[in-house]
Parts: sequence; structure tokens; C-alpha cells
Amino acid sequence: MAKEELECSFCGRKKPETNLLIAGLDAHICDRCIEQAHGIVLEESKQSDNAELSSELMLKKPQQIKSFLDEYIIGQEYTKKVMSVAVYNHYKRLLQSPTDDEIEIQKSNIIMVGQTGTGKTLMAKTVARMLNVPLAIVDATVLTEAGYVGEDVESILTRLLQAADYNLEKAEKGIVFIDEIDKIARKSDNPSITRDVSGEGVQQALLKLLEGTVVNVPPKGGRKHPDQKFIEVNTEHILFIAGGAFDGIDKKISKRLNLAAIGYKAAHDGDALDTNNLLQYIIPKDLKDFGLIPEIIGRLPVLTYMDPLDANTLRAILTEPKNAIIKQYKKLFEMDEIEFTITEGALDYIVTKAIEYKLGARGLRSLCEEILTDAMFEMPSSDEKKLNVTKSYAENKLTKSTLKKLKAVS
Ligand code: ADP
Repeated sequence: MAKEELECSFCGRKKPETNLLIAGLDAHICDRCIEQAHGIVLEESKQSDNAELSSELMLKKPQQIKSFLDEYIIGQEYTKKVMSVAVYNHYKRLLQSPTDDEIEIQKSNIIMVGQTGTGKTLMAKTVARMLNVPLAIVDATVLTEAGYVGEDVESILTRLLQAADYNLEKAEKGIVFIDEIDKIARKSDNPSITRDVSGEGVQQALLKLLEGTVVNVPPKGGRKHPDQKFIEVNTEHILFIAGGAFDGIDKKISKRLNLAAIGYKAAHDGDALDTNNLLQYIIPKDLKDFGLIPEIIGRLPVLTYMDPLDANTLRAILTEPKNAIIKQYKKLFEMDEIEFTITEGALDYIVTKAIEYKLGARGLRSLCEEILTDAMFEMPSSDEKKLNVTKSYAENKLTKSTLKKLKAVS
């Protein structure tokens, strides 16, 4: 074949029409076809990644999801169970092909009610870690209705895009944790009152997001970058988890339960109520009485509660989770070849102080930090290679004034 007659065996372009023509055994391929083929290879490998992700997700049954949560979260059995089922169903919904049949599985967005520091954020983080999906944690208190000072609700999706390194496909399967959802409760029981910017208005704005819609999202967020091009994000497959302390909701629950007890006394006979933990009796109506609008409650159909942390739980949080605080300190000291041990007495002492000063689980870390700072400062430059923290060592390091300081910041 004469040189000028050579052509690409794929698209038929003659050699002079190409930038490059590569010869194979009995065929030739031009630069354009190489690029196109490369694109196909990338696309295919992406799809097989997705298939892998899907099959991986399908393999994890609710009980396995719960076992994973057990490794990181102490107690909170009810929420862990509810969460495992909700997450499982959510990902089943993702894997459902639209042609399956007429039944459309609704989203299983979740709302967790529980005092601060009981592990709500940890729960969301752990689920995201297990599924290996991006997670955005946002504080509902900074959100306002569009046009007011504060962040528009779309900023939630900006965070999610950032968490996904701007991979839209990943972001659209991510998890959003909306903290302090109780802070956007309607302030007044009278719905006709002038709309409050940071309350009902935000709830209204959130509705669409929760349900599933395509939102124009400013990739860099905020109004500081007016020229940025919007990214269209579909929220249909994003799992929303909301959390809040709902201070005072226990009174509403107790009122409802007492009222019910008068009318249906027989039904309650022998069914003693656990008044130390009224949250376990929560129902959607209590959220409505607190000031969440019914539409929001409807779009967060999975309602669950967190147990308050007692001494045993706090004690376990110190040492048991996969990345428990004490394990972390052990590791830090190990890096300086220091063997760190702590006695049972010292651990009990830390828990007692956390309870006495109402520091909760978050306080455990600050307490440990106060106790160990001197050692962490001095020991790396000394020859001492062993540190055993006893109760009296801890007592020495934790003076009354440091405890007061910790209380002030918590
Ligand atoms: P919340 O979101 O409910 O305010 P967090 O999830 O932020 O609480 O918890 C605060 C810290 O306390 C976490 O970093 C975690 O280390 C610890 N913690 C709280 N509850 C638990 C728990 N049940 N199991 C293990 N650690 C916990």
C-alpha cells in the first residue's frame, strides 16, 4: 500500500487528515480514535467502580452495619438498630432500577433527638465512614432564608461538593448531617405570625432539599463569588440525617403521656414509664409541638432518640471504641517510645469528674488533656520511658480551677 493511501481502520480518515497514525499488525489507528477509545475505557472503569460500590453496599446487611457502628459507638442500641435499617433501605433504594415496577421506595431521611454530646454527630460520621461516601456536617443555626444575612440552604450542598472533592456523582450519593435542627423550630405556636427568618422560613427552604430535587449550587458557596458557574446537584439520593437536643421536649412528652394515661389507664397498667429517659417515648407529634412544621417531620420519617450517657457508658467511651481516647494517647506516647498506662482508679476518677462538672463525653477529652499535658510536654525530651497515671496523679493535675475552666468552656 502506498504511503498516502494509509488510513485509520476505525474512522477511515486518510493519513494526511490525521495528526498521527499508529500502525498495528494489520490495522492503523489515528490520534482522534485513540482519544475516543481512551474515553470509553475511562467510562467503563467508572461504571465497574459503581457496580463494585453497589455490590459492596448490598453485601452489608443491617446486622453487619450495626456491628460496624458497635466498633465506634458505645450504647445507643436503639438508634444503631434504626440507623442500620434506614441506611440499608436507603441504599436498596439507590440500587433499585427505575424499571423494576411501579413501587417507588421513599427516602429514609433520619432525625435523631438527644442531648448534646451523646454521639449524634459520631453516628453520622461512622455511617459515612462505613459506606465510604462524602459527609457534610452543617449547623442549622447559620442557615437563613434566601436574601437574609446568613447562609442559604444551598450552602449545605456546597459543603457536600467540597467533601466529595467536587465529584458530583459521589456528592449525589453522600450524607448530609444537619446539626441543631431544633434551633430552627417555629418560635411561636401561632403560624400566622410574621414569618421568622431563621425559623419557619428555613424549614420551608429545607423541604425541597430533603425530598429530592435539582438545586443550583454555587460551588464555592456564599455570595462572595458572584461570577461562579452553578453546579446542578440532584438531592434525590442524598441521605439527610438531622440531629438536635430539643431542650424541654421531655416536658411535652411527659405531658402527653400523663394525658394519655388518664384516658387509657388500662392500657398503661403494669407498663411503668422510665421517667429518667423520656426521650424514648418520643413521637412525631412532639416534634410538631416543639415547632417543627409537619412537612419537615414528614420528610424525616425515621425518628430516633439518644440515651443520656451514664457513668458506665462514659467509662466505656474512654477505652472501648476503635479509636477510644485512651487508645489515642497510648499511640501518641508510643511514638516517643513511652509506655503509657492508666489505672482503673484514674479512669473512674475522670468519669466522676466528667459527671460532677456536667462535661459529658466531650469533656472526657478535655479532662485527659489537662491530666496529660505536662507529661506530653516533658517526657519526649527526658529519659523516662514509662508513664503510669494513677488516681492521685490525675487528682494532682486536675486542680479545682482547671475543672472550673473546663466547665466554663463546655
Ligand atoms: P452530639 O453530636 O450528640 O452533640 P458528638 O457525636 O459530637 O455528640 O459526641 C461528642 C464526642 O463524644 C464524640 O467525639 C465522641 O468521641 C464522644 N461520644 C459521644 N457519645 C459517644 C458514644 N455513644 N460512643 C462513643 N463515643 C461517644
